[in-house]
Amino acid sequence: MAQLCNKVALVTASTKGIGFAIAQRLAANGAHVVVCSRKKENVDAAVNELTSKKQKVTGMVCDAGQSSDRKLLMNMINQKFGGLDILVSNVAVNPYFEGILTTPESVYDKILDTNVKSAFMLIQETVPLMRKKGGGAIVTISSAVGFLPNFELGTWRGFGVYGISKSALIALTKAFAPELRDLNVRVNCVAPGLIKTEFSAELLQRGEKSTAAELKVSRIGVPEDCAGAVSFLCSDDASYITGETIVVSGGIPCRF
Ligand code: NAP
Repeated sequence: MAQLCNKVALVTASTKGIGFAIAQRLAANGAHVVVCSRKKENVDAAVNELTSKKQKVTGMVCDAGQSSDRKLLMNMINQKFGGLDILVSNVAVNPYFEGILTTPESVYDKILDTNVKSAFMLIQETVPLMRKKGGGAIVTISSAVGFLPNFELGTWRGFGVYGISKSALIALTKAFAPELRDLNVRVNCVAPGLIKTEFSAELLQRGEKSTAAELKVSRIGVPEDCAGAVSFLCSDDASYITGETIVVSGGIPCRF
């Protein structure tokens, strides 16, 4: 299982939930993983857990939405590893659960900045480090609602600006793929469906039964369900795949 031996991988927002499961899988498959998030106690806990499993890990506090934090992170990776092989851009927020017509501009900006602009900037900032390694693999984390911004869940009509941002990430992935071809960098996306995490707690509360009825697998997803797809896309087994999105949704009908 050492498919990612000698690779250095950065996973943003990776101290809990899907990001942590991805970090854990990449490390189990041989990579040295850089985990990061905003709170030091979460970073320390994630590093301790991975270290206790004898996995190679470096932790750093980083708000992925802040360019100054990302710059410090890139400097650390450059100094410590001399380059980067794998980037998983996992950060997202969804601070608003009401209708799209009433969404304030400040909320729109917060969601687009954190979910889309930070991924865009992170890819730009990462490419020089991947160039030093002669190539790399980038995975963005969208959502099944990126294909279904009109998906209704319980009493919830559509996914508002969050859904728009997740559609944009699928487009961003496709747009970067040809740009990075000559640098030997592949760019792909994973779009999870409903996965049990802190992020989805309110969603689950509102619509677990109606979502379960849509599923073609008889359980709600867990973070580890996303980790294998990401690890595959980062590996040489996916060397002929770029600009693509894998949906990990228990069969919720997706795609435009
Ligand atoms: P989660 O369990 O709530 O975990 C969030 C993680 O992100 C924590 O480690 C948190 O740590 C960190 N974080 C939050 N804001 C950050 C920021 N600005 N900068 C850096 N780190 C930050 O979330 P999740 O459910 O795993 O979601 C991960 C990704 O999957 C998101 O892109 C989400 O849109 C996507 N997704 C989730 C589901 C689902 O059902 N769960 C479905 C589709 C897509 P700190 O608090 O320490 O920062």
